[in-house]
Amino acid sequence: MSLLQEVVEKVKQRDPRESEFHQAVTEVMESLEPTVERHSEFVKAAIYERIVEPDRVIIFRVPWVDDGGKVQINRGFRIQFNNAIGPYKGGLRFHPSVNLSILKFLGFEQIFKNSLTTLPMGGAKGGSDFDPKGKSDDEVMRFCYAFMRELYRHIGPDTDVPAGDIGVGGREIGYLFGYYKKVVNEHTGVLTGKGLDYGGSLIRPEATGFGAVYFAAEMLATRGLDFKGKAVAISGSGNVAQYAMEKVNELGGRVVSLCDSTATIVDEAGISGDKCDFVMELKNIRRGRIKEYADKFGTVCYIGESIWDVIRDEGLKIDVALPCATQNEVDESHATALVKNGCICVAEGANMPSTPDAVQIFQENNVLFGPGKAANAGGVSVSGLEMSQNSLKMSWTREEVDALLLKIMKEIHKSCLEAAETYGKKGDYVAGANIAGFIKVANAMLAYGIV
Ligand code: NAP
Repeated sequence: MSLLQEVVEKVKQRDPRESEFHQAVTEVMESLEPTVERHSEFVKAAIYERIVEPDRVIIFRVPWVDDGGKVQINRGFRIQFNNAIGPYKGGLRFHPSVNLSILKFLGFEQIFKNSLTTLPMGGAKGGSDFDPKGKSDDEVMRFCYAFMRELYRHIGPDTDVPAGDIGVGGREIGYLFGYYKKVVNEHTGVLTGKGLDYGGSLIRPEATGFGAVYFAAEMLATRGLDFKGKAVAISGSGNVAQYAMEKVNELGGRVVSLCDSTATIVDEAGISGDKCDFVMELKNIRRGRIKEYADKFGTVCYIGESIWDVIRDEGLKIDVALPCATQNEVDESHATALVKNGCICVAEGANMPSTPDAVQIFQENNVLFGPGKAANAGGVSVSGLEMSQNSLKMSWTREEVDALLLKIMKEIHKSCLEAAETYGKKGDYVAGANIAGFIKVANAMLAYGIV
């Protein structure tokens, strides 16, 4: 058994029920095998063993009162995984599926993603098993206040800077920041994804979706291709999916699908113009279900199926796939169908949406595959730019931030390819992203000694 296989086994023994965390650690450690031989200093300092153990895990009770006057109890988490290269940074997820395993996988991935951005940010993640769906604005506000009533003591602009993720958008960040500001009596950049009127950055809402499409465009360009005329399948219909859709349209692609956790709509004529406006209004203001799109525009709607099920079962042909919903949504059967139906490029807008078997199928079949920690790093990159603007007490224009985002995504793409080639894995974006992200953090950990 290799050293890194032993690291994975120890993680599994120590926390046997954390399957998502095991999946993320296994993928990263497999990619890091070529670094072991070249970096005996990392082995000696037990960097591999140390990097899989979070600096700190905070779990807390979140009591709040619903509209009926009933006391509700949720569980809150913050995983401060690694701050070797900068303050902890990573989103908050509010979703009933949230548990320690999911947040540890997300926090672990965030270490390497943040390192890839070239900005000084450590890795963290947090959230709650609270479900904002079906709750009134007042209930969401009371929950956010109750959540921040404990979290505020663990975060700070130079300590830990949370942002949004699934179930945490502009509304939730507003409530969380409002409560923090009240109790700490400071107006600092302690959260990112803030509204423009109180310290937010232009392009932050767009950044993850735009960035994923910029990354896909870079991958396509390595084969002399671009988005023009390409049929693009997008999953999800939240923040990442919406802005991925906008950028694909801008680059001349045709978005043929969106979904939510209850249904998938397919519109082969393309979701653009007024149809995009309808989706934004439906999801961000009315907080409705994607099925209403099919009712409004008379398109096909598949209840209880994901777009990847539809591609597999109906033989839908697409060129580019952008999974932008959640982890493990694309499995082996979906990947096989995507390859068969002509997909040439997959860029992960979501975190770990493809299972390990699916990734293997994409790679074996020469599909351009951009893993989430590289392809969706645009969001945290602009969060980093939001932190810089807050520290400088100034704000940059939309054009300035977008240009920086594009530059960062190109840099990430380049470092993935360079690291992959240097370590004998030419063209492998998974290995490249893991290795490039790891080396910087490992060097910093080495510099600090054993702390
Ligand atoms: P969001 O705005 O809450 O949207 C999530 C979308 O995915 C919704 O359409 C949701 O449908 C769907 N979805 C969520 N869980 C699902 C499930 N279990 N099964 C099927 N569909 C599901 O969240 P987001 O910010 O777009 O995040 C999407 C993904 O991108 C996540 O993996 C997140 O970690 C990743 N990401 C986000 C950012 C960011 O800046 N926001 C940055 C990097 C990575 P329902 O409405 O029905 O739940």
